[in-house]
Amino acid sequence: MKKVILTGDRPTGKLHLGHFVGSLKNRVELQNSGEYNSYIMIADMQALTDNAKNPAKVRENVLEVALDYLAVGIDPAKSTIFIQSQIPALSELTMYYMNLVSLSRVLRNPTVKTEISQKGWDKSKELLWDSPLLVENSLDYKGTPAGFAMYPISQAADITAFKANVVPVGEDQLPVIEITHEVVRVFNKIYGKTLIEPEAVVPNDVKSRRLPGIDGNAKMSKSLGNGIYLSDDYETLKKKVMSMYTDPDHIHVSDRGKIEGNVVFTYLDVFAPDQAKVAELKEQYQRGGLGDVVVKKYLLEVLDEILSLIRKKRAELAKNPAAIYDMLREGSKKANIVAAQTLHEVRKAIGVEYFES
Ligand code: ATP
Ligand code: MG
Repeated sequence: MKKVILTGDRPTGKLHLGHFVGSLKNRVELQNSGEYNSYIMIADMQALTDNAKNPAKVRENVLEVALDYLAVGIDPAKSTIFIQSQIPALSELTMYYMNLVSLSRVLRNPTVKTEISQKGWDKSKELLWDSPLLVENSLDYKGTPAGFAMYPISQAADITAFKANVVPVGEDQLPVIEITHEVVRVFNKIYGKTLIEPEAVVPNDVKSRRLPGIDGNAKMSKSLGNGIYLSDDYETLKKKVMSMYTDPDHIHVSDRGKIEGNVVFTYLDVFAPDQAKVAELKEQYQRGGLGDVVVKKYLLEVLDEILSLIRKKRAELAKNPAAIYDMLREGSKKANIVAAQTLHEVRKAIGVEYFES
């Protein structure tokens, strides 16, 4: 039996370089190894948890995310791509799972807390990525949509519905997937072994696990508007690279520059094929005598090399949206069969399969 992979993205915007290195590249490799059954979900219901008032944005981005998938090499002949809301079993599983995790456990999740704070639902607004403990007791949840706070539980439903063994994600999702572990353990203990415990897989390269934003924020994120998108044209890419956060104290070319926290160098570490050249640039930058513009120009070259191919393929695919929807319909059909089977097993384990047998 092949191992199963489940991953997904929220259709809250087009996909960016953080997705590319944090998850997409891994997915394409695993898909092409032929050793896995891959399910790739466009998490539109999860996107609605913080975009309830803007359903058009979510709807439009379903197509955009699907285009990004195909453009980076996810192949619908090898991977099942589907839309979350079209799989009713996922909602029902979420209802059963919500009873297995305490409210405080869900609300204590550092990723969820950071996101609540970033979205401005928390009045204290003091949370930073690297200091989740800071607001352990001070986060104010009151303005947070209940559905948003529960998204880790719906993620447990997504993962277990497909009996996934492997979940390739960026680092921010590790605490979220912890909740899946908990759900699986508690469920199996109470109702008998039914669900499979997955393993979250982050990229080998530490810097790829959470790519910072071009503004220097610890995470590039669709919601923070600090991303370089896979679909950005050359001019947009150039503008973004040239405006990237570097070392604020590096004012004159002759000044000594800092590498730490300088996102231009972080990106070069992650994306440049010639790491010897990067090491040389770093040394010169730290010594003084190397301007930001020179380093940025090199980064622009490196990124455009990667993005130009993706951009071209994407533009070609975008000409035929009907074909993309056909592909998503087929994928959703396939996914529905698998998730319905798991739901059947879950209902049976709990004892609510009154009329099925
Ligand atoms: P949103 O701001 O709407 O939450 P996002 O940019 O965080 O969007 P998601 O759709 O939530 O993107 O994440 C999809 C996957 O991509 C997850 O596995 C996540 O860990 C990974 N990912 C997202 N941003 C990054 C990043 N900057 N670096 C590495 N991985 C990332
Ligand atoms: Mg996210």
